[in-house]
Amino acid sequence: MKSLCVLGATGSVGLNTLQVVQSQPHQFRVVAITAHSNVSGMLDLCRLHKPDFAVMSAGDAALKLEQAVQAEALPTKILSGEQGLIEVASLPQVDAVMAAIVGAAGLLPTLAAAKAGKQVLLANKEALVMAGALFTQAVEEHAATLLPIDSEHNAIFQCLPKGQVRSLTQSGIKRILLTASGGPFRETPLSQLATVTPQQACNHPNWDMGEKISVDSATMMNKGLEVIEACFLFHATLEQVEVVVHPQSVIHSMVEYIDGSVLAQLGSPDMRVPIAHALAWPERIHSGAPFLDLLKVGQLDFMPMDEIRFPCVQLARDAFIAGGTATAILNAANEVAVAAFLEERLPFSCIPAVVEASLSTMEILPANNLELVLAADQEARAVANEHIVNRQ
Ligand code: NDP
Ligand code: MG
Repeated sequence: MKSLCVLGATGSVGLNTLQVVQSQPHQFRVVAITAHSNVSGMLDLCRLHKPDFAVMSAGDAALKLEQAVQAEALPTKILSGEQGLIEVASLPQVDAVMAAIVGAAGLLPTLAAAKAGKQVLLANKEALVMAGALFTQAVEEHAATLLPIDSEHNAIFQCLPKGQVRSLTQSGIKRILLTASGGPFRETPLSQLATVTPQQACNHPNWDMGEKISVDSATMMNKGLEVIEACFLFHATLEQVEVVVHPQSVIHSMVEYIDGSVLAQLGSPDMRVPIAHALAWPERIHSGAPFLDLLKVGQLDFMPMDEIRFPCVQLARDAFIAGGTATAILNAANEVAVAAFLEERLPFSCIPAVVEASLSTMEILPANNLELVLAADQEARAVANEHIVNRQ
């Protein structure tokens, strides 16, 4: 029986994880769950999974959940704040931590799981983008296991040779083909991108996800973050990661070997597939996702990415080349710009400009320690907000 901590349990990935877990009650035990402020969602999960611990990172929400849990005499202990997140991610009785908090807020708890030597099921790509070198170093030093949840990276992981890959070249790999659906605005006339609404941006053609990653998919910053994620996870150079637009989201990514073989992982676009893969790894379990019917799919299309329509991918590549704190700045500025768009304070088409302006305003420092990364994150948020306010 594997004991789990689910960080970001009330979110899209968190709920999909708990669905897979619920269908395999003899394989998994939920020891801890966390959320930010969604008290009623957490109360439902406490009733269903009876975890030992539940954490609300917002203090007032923790108080409310505690009263509700006590009123129903549930066995769950309530913790609060970032310290609570870190505590449950490192509990000795936890085997695997699903890192599914959205954004930079996930960095410290996810890093704590790595430092405690856990199996880290990584959905929170922003943690890796911000502090990839520090994060992979912690994984190595503390003998943690990193299993990718992001569907593309999970696909690549499944197509790689077994065992630790030191460098792609040493494993006979030529390149990684990272597939991208192109999001909801792949064919929208460029002139209309200034006036698209948050609702349109969050209406992804293939995936049902949280708001932030949905907007990232619409700008394709998500693919930019994923290029960086792939470089850190698989010891790849930027040149070894190529983005291929594949609107059906049936092939979740591919690995090309030097002999000309290309291995791909296919499946229904349903996050329960990569989640079940990582939860059971190296075994296999049912995920509950519908099986892929290729005859119904009929056709698979591939096309190059439109670099003019989607400048965020190049911004991400440039930040990775700049190194140091640049990727933390990219991530923070993007989070601020996406939040402003969702609150209708910034047009969709201005998101890349805010990120670019923040990167060019700030000095890029070596990311030698966590304090420097967190300071860059904080400063980039202030700088990005200033660019948004001064835009008019
Ligand atoms: P959601 O927005 O659906 O859920 C986010 C979760 O994080 C919620 O449980 C939320 O709690 C919690 N949370 C939000 N803010 C904070 C905070 N400041 N401190 C602590 N917890 C917080 O996100 P998704 O599930 O869509 O995405 C989660 C991560 O997985 C992201 O990094 C995303 O990029 C990645 N991912 C997601 C995929 C998907 O299909 N959704 C696919 C691939 C990767 P509350 O409900 O209380 O706000
Ligand atoms: Mg993805």
